Amino acid sequence: MRIGILGDIHANTEALTAVVKSMREDGVDVFVQVGDIVGYGPEPSECIDIVRELGCVTCLGNHDAAVLDLLDTSYFNNFARAAIHWTKPRLRPEDLKFLRGLQLVERRPPFTVVHGSLHMPDQFGYVISPVEAIDSLDQQDTQLCFVGHSHVPAIYLRRDDSPQDIHVVPHSEAEISYKGFDRILMNVGSVGQPRDEDPRAAYGLVDTDLGIANIKRVVYDIPGVQRKIRDAGLPDVLANRLALGV
Ligand code: ZN
Repeated sequence: MRIGILGDIHANTEALTAVVKSMREDGVDVFVQVGDIVGYGPEPSECIDIVRELGCVTCLGNHDAAVLDLLDTSYFNNFARAAIHWTKPRLRPEDLKFLRGLQLVERRPPFTVVHGSLHMPDQFGYVISPVEAIDSLDQQDTQLCFVGHSHVPAIYLRRDDSPQDIHVVPHSEAEISYKGFDRILMNVGSVGQPRDEDPRAAYGLVDTDLGIANIKRVVYDIPGVQRKIRDAGLPDVLANRLALGV
């Protein structure tokens, strides 16, 4: 089985369509989406439609929760909050219905999907180092778990007989073999707003037959989405950052 994992789309249709095209070329059988379809970007409904049409296994992100009033936005930064206020009145009833149907955690052996961490998923903590990875891995009862939220890709691997010994593969486009590891936690990075100083859209690819995991990057039309962000009246910084990958 080939699993294609995308997330943190953030209403960026240009990035999402480029990633989906690349995933189809990879021969993906199962599509997974780790949350935050909306927020920051100019085309939330378009992105929800694409995720639905792909039949993605999907969980709820913090920006998705915020537009549903399930999350207090006082801890969001000003630009994120402005984008939530911009997004809310533009969502169609069917978009809200779709987002309301999402769960914090989707368990589909051999994988689990959660936006931030399996450790208190409703708190939307970030996995950015082995410290947080251990907390999430302790709750992981499938071999694979896919997360996003930090917008920085990385893969954490461990064996059940040495749970404190975390093998980390920081962002790299190399294929890695996870054979011999019992638990794999994969942060797939962000489709629509990468923050690892690489502006290309990121997604994950896992081949469960071969035991291989891979973070892939795709070039997309950044000026195209920047134009839409500015035309929409969203904060300029949300357009500028896309060219820098921050
Ligand atoms: Zn996000």
